[in-house]
Amino acid sequence: MKVLGNFINNQAVASASGRFGPVFNPATGEQSSQVTLSTAEETRQAIAAAEKAFVSWSKVTPLNRARILFKFKALVEEHADELATLITSEHGKVFSDAKGELTRGLEVVEFACGIPHLLKGEHSLNVGRGVDSFSLMQPMGVCAGISPFNFPAMVPMWMFPIAIACGNTFVMKPSEKDPATTYRLAELLAEAGLPEGVFNIVNGDKEAVDVLLTDDRIAAVSFVGSTPIAEYIYRTASEHGKRVQALGGAKNHMVIMPDADPTQVVHSLMGAAYGSAGERCMAISVAVCVGDEVADHLIASLTKEIETMRVGPGIGLPEESHMGPLISKEHAGKVKAYIDSGVEEGATLIVDGRNFTYPGHENGYFVGPTLFDHVKPGMRIYNEEIFGPVLSVVRVSSYDEAVKLINAHEYGNGTAIFTRDGDSARQFCEDIQVGMVGVNIPIPVPMAFHSFGGWKRSLFGPLHMHGPDGVRFYTKMKTVTARWPTGQRAGAEFSMPTMK
Ligand code: NAD
Repeated sequence: MKVLGNFINNQAVASASGRFGPVFNPATGEQSSQVTLSTAEETRQAIAAAEKAFVSWSKVTPLNRARILFKFKALVEEHADELATLITSEHGKVFSDAKGELTRGLEVVEFACGIPHLLKGEHSLNVGRGVDSFSLMQPMGVCAGISPFNFPAMVPMWMFPIAIACGNTFVMKPSEKDPATTYRLAELLAEAGLPEGVFNIVNGDKEAVDVLLTDDRIAAVSFVGSTPIAEYIYRTASEHGKRVQALGGAKNHMVIMPDADPTQVVHSLMGAAYGSAGERCMAISVAVCVGDEVADHLIASLTKEIETMRVGPGIGLPEESHMGPLISKEHAGKVKAYIDSGVEEGATLIVDGRNFTYPGHENGYFVGPTLFDHVKPGMRIYNEEIFGPVLSVVRVSSYDEAVKLINAHEYGNGTAIFTRDGDSARQFCEDIQVGMVGVNIPIPVPMAFHSFGGWKRSLFGPLHMHGPDGVRFYTKMKTVTARWPTGQRAGAEFSMPTMK
């Protein structure tokens, strides 16, 4: 069985831990490889490599750092099919979706290629007579990234391109469920000319993560994953003096106003709810219908659309599936248990995906698209993140009720409003307590040159991912106030200096 180890100093490094995690092909349920679960000492070795590399990498000019990223971008594009195939084989999402994830990741690389411009800082001439003030944006040091299973390429690429462009070195701990894609990206970085030790991969679980959160040599930690772990990461790494951004789970609502375009609503909702089998932190899992007429029409249209959905393996079929399997047997079981609980708690199950199997792939982790009506706050399927192809319809009687409902939820990652009325849309953008808002856009993932992040229990820490916040997160600001001798000598001043 193939064993994936660590990648340190641009080299494959086998682990001696003797602990491994199984990696499966979710479409077949067969184990395809195993991944090393590194020891604390092996994690410290990766940090040591990054610490050593920081000395010279932080002195490489931003322009030359960017030039390596330009080469990396070209290599990822050249290997896009291979990378997307890897994503599909370990994650299960369909091939075109895997390519989409790569594109969104590459956009962050493109943003990071502009680092000479982004690190210019600020400069003020004559803040006092003959005194200038300017800022330096200097790298933090060794940074760590810990990523979830659902975007094995994109989420690591939210982190390391900007971190290394800013002059930091990096230790990445990918998800142990689908680690091969991130590993391949590390090989491509090395091929692009990234010096040894600048980007390292430690595969593992809590044992490796805990070292990254507590080791004195780590300056900053970026995390994306579920809320309980995000909270743990934020608390532990902060207690150890690190800068932390920890992105957590979500429950994203889409409000459908009576004046919304019904066709646009249905098409948007199908992709946003069932794309990637609902395993997206920006998936829409709750449709909030304003008025029973809107809800009745939506339920009828969605039911019809769901019948036409192709659920199956993510690659290798003459006609591509719309939706693949879930990540693991346990997760598929958990999603089915949520559907059971929805029925028990009194929601109306309109389409039931629990018994779906794909012929010839009976051991695959498939759950069919599922639709509930009459879902209410307090039910587990409403309160909790399911992270599967389960869409809940909640009926409300007014815009105000919709806003109140969303604002009362513990998560605040993404949301959307569908309407033709600019006034409602504008008010919604202002009223809603959510970090990313779409107006007639179901999955409002900000582009790489904006920052990505939710509110409330969807993000711990002040700075969002990538865009301007990404540059701020991976740099320390230093402000210099300077006066050069003019040849005139003044006497000593004993009062508090003020600018004249
Ligand atoms: P997860 O929290 O189980 O794991 C994320 C990472 O944390 C993995 O690398 C894992 O090895 C590590 N980890 C898990 N348990 C740990 C522990 N006890 N101590 C230390 N490290 C631990 O998340 P997941 O199941 O891989 O990913 C799905 C979750 O990620 C969902 O909740 C989803 O909403 C969230 N997510 C959020 C965003 C966002 O931008 N907010 C984006 C993608 C995914």
